[in-house]
Amino acid sequence: MRKVPVIDPSRCNDCQSCIELCPGVFRKNKETGAIEIIELPDYPEDEVEEAMSMCPEDCISWEEK
Ligand code: SF4
Repeated sequence: MRKVPVIDPSRCNDCQSCIELCPGVFRKNKETGAIEIIELPDYPEDEVEEAMSMCPEDCISWEEK
């Protein structure tokens, strides 16, 4: 099992704090404009958790895959 961050797009307000904090994990999809997670074999847990704690909508969470 590995932990993968996921964003709830219905709650994301596009503030982009997650991208500022963690540009290696979060990005804005150029076509849809949605904030999304970059596919990585592993995610830097501390950085992702910092982004989670900074997210004003509390819409980033871990999923076990
Ligand atoms: S920090 Fe949260 S609300 Fe802001 S863009 Fe990222 S996921 Fe969306």
